[in-house]
Amino acid sequence: MNNGNENYIEQITQLVGSKLSEYVNISQSAEVPVIQQASMQQIWNELSVSSWIENGGMRIDQLNDFLDSFFPHTMHMHHPAYMGHQVAVPHFSAVVGDMINSVSNNPMAIYEMGPASAAIEAAVINWMLQKTGWLGEDKDFLGSNDQGAGVLTHGGSLANLTALLAARNRVAPSSWENGTTGDLVILCSPSAHYSIARAISIMGLGSHAVVPLEVDEMEVLKATSLRDVYDRVISEGKRVMAVVASACATSTGLYDPIDVIADFCLENKLWLHIDGPHGMAAILSKNEKKLLKGIEKADSVIWDAHKMLCTSTLCTAVLFKDKRDFNSMFQQEGSYLFHEKENHGYDFIEHTIECTKAGLGLKLFFVLAFLGEKGISEFVENQYDKTKEFHKIISERKNFQCPYVPQSNILCFRYGNDNNLQLVIREELLRKGDYYITLTEIRGLRYLRIVIMNPATDKDTIYGLLKSIEEIVYDQMIDFYYY
Ligand SMILES: *Cc1c(COP(=O)(O)O)cnc(C)c1O
Repeated sequence: MNNGNENYIEQITQLVGSKLSEYVNISQSAEVPVIQQASMQQIWNELSVSSWIENGGMRIDQLNDFLDSFFPHTMHMHHPAYMGHQVAVPHFSAVVGDMINSVSNNPMAIYEMGPASAAIEAAVINWMLQKTGWLGEDKDFLGSNDQGAGVLTHGGSLANLTALLAARNRVAPSSWENGTTGDLVILCSPSAHYSIARAISIMGLGSHAVVPLEVDEMEVLKATSLRDVYDRVISEGKRVMAVVASACATSTGLYDPIDVIADFCLENKLWLHIDGPHGMAAILSKNEKKLLKGIEKADSVIWDAHKMLCTSTLCTAVLFKDKRDFNSMFQQEGSYLFHEKENHGYDFIEHTIECTKAGLGLKLFFVLAFLGEKGISEFVENQYDKTKEFHKIISERKNFQCPYVPQSNILCFRYGNDNNLQLVIREELLRKGDYYITLTEIRGLRYLRIVIMNPATDKDTIYGLLKSIEEIVYDQMIDFYYY
């Protein structure tokens, strides 16, 4: 077994490094399709997957061949025509964190098992808390209890669950021991991310505990509906565990009006949770910050570095305004972990659902160290600005409609008026492999959806996409008339 052989690690990282460079280059220069769909069977065969699993014995030259066959079947995130889901096209520096984690494998949630990674995670959390206005004067959340606190989790869905657990603990602290009573509800937009409803069911509140608020025609929360819905659930004898607002909505990229919602929550002593994995990045931009006005009045927020902070998956922060909520959300003891000891640092494990936890802070840290907050902020502004420009191009084009002016780098549009046609267009685009885009529905109407995650996506990419869609529609019409 070569485990621990430094020389071997060096050879492997050199090979994989050079393969990855080549991969990024051909992706960025669009020399390959952005996506190439194959069945699993095909991929298993091509890569001799079962034989490797059964027999092992891969050597460096074979790894080389394996990677040559592997990369064509990946989604090419660095390709300018990648405009699909809200996942970062990572800055190259994120690789440092991933490599260190793979080799050092420090489960840093217990301080002694990864002091360096834990220190970096705490520093990254401090940076994020400073952005939300929740960091105290000594600029370290590990100090006084009169400030915010937070932790990194493996993804936003887990972070939402964590934040909602803290909300439950504030409203109904005995639920930890006695289970959840039937009277807890949350108020949110019907288009809130599915992980919210999932968290509620996981917590045992039941899906009926998700009470929808009114939204406008673009599914943005109508803050004015809060009063009525709140009064109604109270008159039914319910207790509101939390109000959840999106920043921004997954489907449209539009922001719920946080400031007004926050005032209502403060007035009525309700926990406000901001589901902001994507759109929290606006806080780094002088121009776009206004979208998050009132954020400091919320109680908890989640923020994915692997969406708009140029970081590889996964790296999410769950942040709390009041450290006391953070301290008391898990009421548990495990003698082999949580015993008296001289602790030189901080055990994040008391505040996470995960037990073994990777040094997630490293990934964001190295992006910050290389690109700087300024670099990330410029990236966010650029992507947001470009998307407004693309909106203009698309909405001026014959037969194309955009239902709203984008607030972020998420843009919806449709060709013509037929819901089914949008499906056909996307299917055909995927089959051809030149462009990767997604679909969404807004109030029953189906739209094509692009998310401009890639710094390399420009006007020409959009012109090319529109032309490609027109060709698909044209071919469809010919099929329709002649067959
Ligand atoms: C992406 C997203 C999530 C889920 O986060 P993951 O990191 O993908 O688990 C939740 N809510 C919103 C609004 C999102 O955009």
